[in-house]
Amino acid sequence: RALQVSIRALPHIDPGLLVLALSDQTQQEAVERMRADFVANASHELRTPLASLIGFIDTLLGPAADDVQAQRRFLAIMQTQAARMRRLIDNLMSLSRIQLMEHDRPRGRVDLAPVIANVADGLEPLLQSRNIELKIDLASGLPSVRGDADQVAQVLQNLLDNALKYATRRITLSASPVQGGVWPAAAGVVLAVRDDGPGIAAHHLPRLTERFYRVEEGQAGRVGSGLGLAIVKHIVGRHSGRLQIESSQGKGSLFSVWLPRA
Ligand code: ADP
Repeated sequence: RALQVSIRALPHIDPGLLVLALSDQTQQEAVERMRADFVANASHELRTPLASLIGFIDTLLGPAADDVQAQRRFLAIMQTQAARMRRLIDNLMSLSRIQLMEHDRPRGRVDLAPVIANVADGLEPLLQSRNIELKIDLASGLPSVRGDADQVAQVLQNLLDNALKYATRRITLSASPVQGGVWPAAAGVVLAVRDDGPGIAAHHLPRLTERFYRVEEGQAGRVGSGLGLAIVKHIVGRHSGRLQIESSQGKGSLFSVWLPRA
């Protein structure tokens, strides 16, 4: 349609320019479709806990108005649903913030040891309650990486949060320098998070970093937003890094992030 309009409006136009206009239009349409899909998905994800909250409010005001025991039970469920909505909104905001700054390359120097120690400390209560060991393997003489310390921490946090959801006994977090060669770019550091969980079937792997993509829907205790790995992908992209996922069913998962050295 765009091409026909252009031809009618400008009969003497160079055909090369027409092709250019057409491909530009297609790209713009793809971006707009992605944006519309994103809004539809985000609304759908928010609607689910919201519908549950509205349902419980109706019950609390109606049939359960005088039943104190039922009220307590329903309020506890509502608390979980509200927390889920808050997590989702926080993740949506993180993702949009990161996407907005994607072309603005971070220039800071990040010393990884304190970042890793900080994230690991924060996980301690959950590790204890789930009886999971976190083994940290920091190579000596680790160079600083080029980046934004808060975002590097968020990458580790998201990968470790996932590992914690699936690990059975142990998670290993390692940081090792690479000289280039194995990874496509120059010298840097590989951060790797390995878990001994159920692993992920091969056909899911290429889609894991898509926004809202989840392998299994709504398993108890594992309901996530489906945004964690999308956030990781965008942060790694902003840092000109690489993300690699290796996993097979029954053999755990390994998420590795390469970041260029400062
Ligand atoms: P979520 O917030 O749902 O965890 P993510 O984007 O972080 O979203 O992960 C996408 C999906 O990838 C998850 O729903 C889960 O099915 C799968 N996944 C991520 N990490 C692991 C892991 N360590 N082991 C098994 N499955 C995983």
